[in-house]
Order: sequence, then structure tokens, then C-alpha cells
Amino acid sequence: MRAFPNTDERINKPDGVILLALAAALFCLPSASRSQEQQQPGVFSDKQLRQAVELRDLALSSADAFRHVASLTMEVGPRLAGTSGDKAAVAWALATMHELGLQNVRAEDVTVSHWERGTIEVGITMPYPQPLAATALGGSIGTPTDGIEAPIIRVADLDELSATPDNEVAGKIVFFDRRMQASKDGDDYTETVKARRDGPAKAAAKGAIAVIIRSVGTSSARLPHTGRTRYDDAIRQIPAAAISNPDADMLAMQLAGGEAVTVKMNMSARYLEDERSANVIGEIRGASRPDEIVILAAHLDSWDLGTGAIDDAAGIGIVLETAAQIIRSGRKPARTIRILLAADEEFGLSGAKAYADRHMAELHSHVVGMEADFGDGKVWRISTLFPDDRLEIATAIHAPLESLGIELGDNKTGSGADISEFKKLGMPVISLGQDGTDYFDYHHTASDTLDKVNPENLRQVVAAFVTATWLAASGDVDFGFREPEEETEE
Ligand SMILES: [Zn+2]
Repeated sequence: MRAFPNTDERINKPDGVILLALAAALFCLPSASRSQEQQQPGVFSDKQLRQAVELRDLALSSADAFRHVASLTMEVGPRLAGTSGDKAAVAWALATMHELGLQNVRAEDVTVSHWERGTIEVGITMPYPQPLAATALGGSIGTPTDGIEAPIIRVADLDELSATPDNEVAGKIVFFDRRMQASKDGDDYTETVKARRDGPAKAAAKGAIAVIIRSVGTSSARLPHTGRTRYDDAIRQIPAAAISNPDADMLAMQLAGGEAVTVKMNMSARYLEDERSANVIGEIRGASRPDEIVILAAHLDSWDLGTGAIDDAAGIGIVLETAAQIIRSGRKPARTIRILLAADEEFGLSGAKAYADRHMAELHSHVVGMEADFGDGKVWRISTLFPDDRLEIATAIHAPLESLGIELGDNKTGSGADISEFKKLGMPVISLGQDGTDYFDYHHTASDTLDKVNPENLRQVVAAFVTATWLAASGDVDFGFREPEEETEE
């Protein structure tokens, strides 16, 4: 950890003074008694905006989220829920928060599943034998020790599966073959991931004996993409694995030849006893409204194949450095800024659920929530989930973000897994959407490592987070609260 530079002389005072004078000229003429600190109708004061801009510019030149990412990925590495890496990550987070000067630093217990990936061998046995680069889907059971060998049937997605007669599926391995398309907001993930999440349960219901999916990722590397699958308690569990895109191409090509294709799978994945993990929390206590909380979340756990650098050490680095920048500035927010490093996002969101259970009495004290869980790409869009009559707040937060190349999105953001429980109950959300064009080349694969993280990008991301966080926390802007969302069956 490097010593923090003295930031005072780096704050751009002259601009601030000019801004203040300009604002005074613009706003104070009609009423000479109006205080500079006073709210403009509905939104932010000149002082808040000036401070946000100063913090933004300081972050752009000095924020170092990368050091946290490097530290977590090197000192801890993979940290799948329930493993020793997971426990080491909790200890790392506590120590790092103390070091950065956060207050009320604590670990709150979370019970997590402990699943072990084990070994895997998957290969085509007919008509043209070839090994396939495969990995177990998270939560999958293993095969019998001798493995299973069966004919394979290809479907594009869940819709095609449900349109296929049961007798064509029974006794076979189902191959879900939908290719994910890359995009800035990664929106095709939502559609493609359905087969990973529900495919094994739905295929089992039709009598399938195992599932193989094309990786839910955009990489052409021979690295399969893992991720959680979800069995249905009422239906027999079957083993499930992902194969890399080039291996899926090979399998699809053999199937297209028209001959029967058989595949052999041998997997030793299994569940162990539940384990204890923790959400790690630290705060910058609010000076005048300490009971009002602006929450910034990221998740501490990761998949086991890589070192969890983009998912989600990058997010951990972003939220920790956002707090560090504000602490370093010496400024005290009015509201409490709470950093939540959540346990077990990947394997069932038990950290997010435990946080909501434990803090339910504080639900309405959560003024607004933000999350960083989309890698190292620059922020290109701010979207929100505000009450419909508070959209002027989104416009006001966007204004100082525009110079960072950030556009104003809609009021329908769906992101925020680590804050999802309170989001469902109506907590307003700000989503700083990062460019995820190459995110799914690495996400959940063995290639999720530190070299994929760009320190320069992270400076821009922290600048955006610091700006939005300061505006939300430094005054008394009323974000309101949304209606609780309808329960939907995902
Ligand atoms: Zn993540």
C-alpha cells in the first residue's frame, strides 16, 4: 500500500471559485439572502456540484483502484464460496477497509453452499472421436464413476427444447447451442444464460440424462465458461457442463453431418457441507444525516477457474477506491456512505439475501444503491431506477458525468445483483453502465485474470462513482422510494 498523496493542493481551487462566482451571479440575484449551500429547486446545490467536480477530477488523475484488484487477485486469488479462498477474501477485505480508514468495519456472517468442481472429461465418441474442452456448471452433480455415454441431441434454446417431443429427448444428452453476441451492455447474456440456468432442470423433466451447453461467452479461446445452474427440487438432477465456443462448433459440425453423434462425460463435481462466509461492510459515517445510507456494493466471491479479476475484483477495487478518494479529500458527506462487499454472488446470492435480512429495519434508510460488477470497462451510460417523479435527479447527476463521455440512459436499469433484495423492495438505484464489449471474452473462464484489467479505465470508472456518490451523499436530495416490484418467476 502506497502512502496517500496530500490531495489538498491538487484540488482545483481557481475553477471552483469562478464556478461559485458564476453561480452566485446566476442564482443569487433574485434573492440576495439565498445561501450558496441551499438546494436549487429539487436538485443539487452549487457547493455540492463544485465538490463533486473536484472529486471527479482528482479521481481522474489519481484514483488507483487497480492496486486493490492486484492485491486481491494476487494475495487471495480464486475465492469460490465456501472455499479457503473465500475465507481469505473476507480477511483481506477487513484488513483493506481498516487500512483505507473506513469506519464501522465489520464482517456479518453468511451461510454459503460449498460446491466442488472436481474433474471433468468430455469427448465425442462417434462418429469422429474428439476431446472437448469442458467445465462443470456451478452446482452440477457428477456422473457415476464410469461416466455416461449417450447419443446427443442439439437444440438452440429452451423454446426449441420445449417444442421437441419427450421421446426424442429421453435417454439422451441435450446440447444447448445458442451463441452469445457481444455488445456494449452485454444484453445478450440475459437471453443466452437461460439455458445454463434452467436447461438441465428442463431437459431432465423430458427424460434427458445430461446436458452440455455452448459457453455463455463471446470468447473464441478454447476455455469453457462456468456459471450457476439451478435444479428443480421436484425433478431428478442430471450432470451439466459447458464446452468452449470452438468445441461447440466442432460438436455442431459433427451433428450437422447427419450421422448419430454420441458423447461421453465423466465428472466428479459434488457438494460438501455448507460453510460460513461473510459480507464485509465499512462506512464513511454521515456528518449530519448518519442514519441515511448511500450503499455501494460489489461481490467478494469469484468463480474458481481464474482469479476473479474482472468478476469482481474490479468492482471491489472501484467501490473501495471511491471510498478512499472521499476519505482522502477530508470532506465529510452528510449521509453515510456504506460499502458492502457481498459474499457469494455467484453461487446463489446468499450474501445479498443475508444483508437484506439483517438490515431489513433499515430498508427505508437506504437512500440509493449502486453496484460495480461489470469488469474494468469505462462507464458510458448512467441509468437509474428512481420513482418516476424524481427523474430530474438523474439528469442532475448526469450533468457532471458528461465530460467523462457518459450518456444519460433510461430509468429501467436491471443491474445490481448484490443490492437486488432492497432494489426489489423499492430502493432507488443508480447504475453506472460500463462498456462490456469484451467482458464476456473472459467472464467466468480461466482467463479472468489481472492482465485483463486496465488501470486507466478504472480511473474513469472511479471518477464516475465518486461524482455520483458525492452528489447522493453530500446533501439532502430526496430520492423517494419506489413501489415494491412484483414477484416474477425468473
Ligand atoms: Zn460478478
